[in-house]
Amino acid sequence: MPRPILATVHPAALRHNLDRARRAALDARIWAVVKANAYGHGIERVFDSLRAADGFAMLDLAEAERVRALGWRGPILLLEGVFDARDLELCSRLDLWHAVHCDAQIDWLAAHKTQVPQRVFLKMNSGMNRLGFAPERFRAAWTRLNALPQVDEISLMTHFSDADGPRGVADALAAFEHATQDLPGERSIANSAAVLRHGPQTRADWVRPGIVLYGSAPDFPAHDAAHWQLRPTMSLRTRLIGVQTLQPGATVGYGSSFVADVPMTIGVAAVGYADGYPRHAPTGTPVLVDGVRTRVVGRVSMDMVTIDLTPVPNAGFGSEVTLWGSASTGAVLPIDEVAQAAGTVGYELMCAVAPRVPFAVE
Ligand code: PLP
Repeated sequence: MPRPILATVHPAALRHNLDRARRAALDARIWAVVKANAYGHGIERVFDSLRAADGFAMLDLAEAERVRALGWRGPILLLEGVFDARDLELCSRLDLWHAVHCDAQIDWLAAHKTQVPQRVFLKMNSGMNRLGFAPERFRAAWTRLNALPQVDEISLMTHFSDADGPRGVADALAAFEHATQDLPGERSIANSAAVLRHGPQTRADWVRPGIVLYGSAPDFPAHDAAHWQLRPTMSLRTRLIGVQTLQPGATVGYGSSFVADVPMTIGVAAVGYADGYPRHAPTGTPVLVDGVRTRVVGRVSMDMVTIDLTPVPNAGFGSEVTLWGSASTGAVLPIDEVAQAAGTVGYELMCAVAPRVPFAVE
């Protein structure tokens, strides 16, 4: 028997969340963001459910090749663009759009010898201060690109630093609008948080939702997934492989960080940080056993997690444990709540599911 841990990807939930993004995006076209292997779900596992999107956006050429290999003939956008001049050839062959965010990429395009002109999204830095041309340099970059015979279409994009937070998008949007006024070309501005929270101002021609497709609230804890009518697209489940009865004063796990103060029963689940469950999940992190909400107790170890069975007195060896997502009973444990307890975000938990964890699609 294989170890009982299993990650399950839910196609119906992916389709539902894409519809949700579509409703929020109104008439904007949707780049379904599938970078980081579709946020840990596996590009091949989500592709059919997301193919109603207008295009796919991802990080690198290897992921773009995978999407083409699945038979996608529509638009593809590389969000970080090309990393090397030699990548341009493959961009042409795969018929990609690619982000252009720095002078080196324009130099590569200018030196590129090809009959097939490139289509690019010129990226402005609107305050994130990661990638993109500063607003005052944006127009010069556009002019340079526009003069190149190697480029036949220039669209314009930016990426918000605080669409999910208190600063919002007003300043970034104003900077983008100012720098791009009078320039031709389609625009793409909004990520998930912007689509949901600032839709009317930020929709433009294309939106770029990622996390919303995977059922996690982009602005948790201000709002949760239920508030945005999102459904979990990944469930991580395992089973109890041991049960211990504790007397007051007994400790649990490495470092003896949890001490029982009353008689209690704990279950030992076959999951640990080597599966991608966060080691920093403290005592109290929510977990479902047979669909009933309870808590992690003691330290997460490499292959095991210990769980308070007090609220589930009938649980025992073989009981189902849901680390996040939906239990077989239909009960749901939002990934955002687990992430918050562990001091991280749903994005990281999804992306961190380890290669040793088998996946199912249902
Ligand atoms: N656009 C760009 C340029 C990104 O880097 C990302 C992800 O970080 C997204 C869109 C999607 O963001 P989110 O998953 O928050 O919707």
